Amino acid sequence: MLDIKTIAEIAERDRSSVLHPFTHLKDFATGKAGDPTIVTGGKGINIKDAQGRTYIDAFAGLYCVNIGYGRTEVAEAIARQAYSLAYYHTYAAHTTEQLATLSDRLVRMAPGKASKVFFGLSGSDANETQAKLVWYYNNLRGQPKKKKIISRERGYHGCSVVSGSMTGMSFYHDHMDLPFPGILHTGAPHHYWHAHPGETEADFSRRRAAELEDLILREGPETIGAFIAEPVLGTGGITPPPEGYWREIQAVLRRYDVLLIADEVICGFGRTGADFGCSLYEIEPDLVTVAKGLTSGYMPLSGAIVSEKVYKVMEEASDRVGAFSHGYTYSGHPIAAAAANAVLDIVEKERLRDRAKTVGEHFQKRLKERFAQLEIVGEVRGVGLLGAVEYVADRQTKRRFDPDLKVGARISKAARDRGLIARAMPHGDILGFAPPLVVSEAEIDEIVDLAYQATKQVMDELA
Ligand code: PLP
Repeated sequence: MLDIKTIAEIAERDRSSVLHPFTHLKDFATGKAGDPTIVTGGKGINIKDAQGRTYIDAFAGLYCVNIGYGRTEVAEAIARQAYSLAYYHTYAAHTTEQLATLSDRLVRMAPGKASKVFFGLSGSDANETQAKLVWYYNNLRGQPKKKKIISRERGYHGCSVVSGSMTGMSFYHDHMDLPFPGILHTGAPHHYWHAHPGETEADFSRRRAAELEDLILREGPETIGAFIAEPVLGTGGITPPPEGYWREIQAVLRRYDVLLIADEVICGFGRTGADFGCSLYEIEPDLVTVAKGLTSGYMPLSGAIVSEKVYKVMEEASDRVGAFSHGYTYSGHPIAAAAANAVLDIVEKERLRDRAKTVGEHFQKRLKERFAQLEIVGEVRGVGLLGAVEYVADRQTKRRFDPDLKVGARISKAARDRGLIARAMPHGDILGFAPPLVVSEAEIDEIVDLAYQATKQVMDELA
């Protein structure tokens, strides 16, 4: 715990200098939104702030701290690498033992017929790389018009120029001159909100696939390079796909020779109870994006995993086009690679994927038991250790709450006041959960109880 004077000084330094992501700038600058939360430590599923308050972090930071906080094995691996070699680049075929080991490991475990990994620092930059790979691949194989990329409404793929354009929520585009030309959007895979009356999940999936096909035909299949999607829709509302969705979508993509980019940034490394979301839904991707769980957030690291099919075209063209001209100073950073190897060792040794499945089943059951009958709850959904409760003003008509009531944000705040971090998702009134995969069943019960109390408090306020 820090003393009051130190806390005030840190808050002041922060307020006067940090441009915070996803923060109301004026409310923060004037103090109306309160002081910054100064996070000082973490252990297991808990974090601690400067006032000495402890919170259960039921969102694992931003769905990333899968192995939990305070794992000294990872800290030691980072330190060992920093002492022996803190940095070297990977340009012109330079490497390190940690990087080669990690890359080989990823190629072996990744879904699809993986061949190579291009390393970056964030999910956003990895998806930016994926777009360039789609363009490069199609240029090299003599299809220079096949460049457009389709993503989904409510998909989230990052915040950089192309990845931010792939993101299918308008508030990520507004006033930022996005989306970038050549990035198109098709309908969200959410049966609860978008199904016609009486339409089954399987029929809804067929309709979504038919809409995708219509879009491809309208634009011209010779202009469509790739489709990007998260196996489970994440920031757009934590929504598992409806029955049959991935089978139907992949059939359309194959028909028109459209590459599939699986954005596994959230789903990868066990979160859904399977190694990857692709394994769970039988997805055969051509390109795979990983980040978050790869290092559990202990270091920034991402990967764009390239399949044999795409890589072969690139390699065969090298005599003609020269070196692969893409890379970052920190691509394959040795400390991040060492962190990732230590994290993946823990994921394997502690069988966190299996844990996400069994504890995840308990979590889904408890969420449904506690929330499904509440009169302001429209839908309870999730898979593995990803879950969401969506609130509506009227269950019968599925009428949303007036956005000015800020129901989702208020429930999240009421949970926080009880020592629970669960995220108010940005689209709609949704409370989202993605606890570290080391969470126990008893801790799940506590998380669900605290979220229930928070919901009840806001229900009382609304009554
Ligand atoms: N893709 C998905 C599915 C994500 O959830 C995120 C971040 O939440 C990203 C990409 C972007 O990752 P980053 O924030 O590391 O740039």
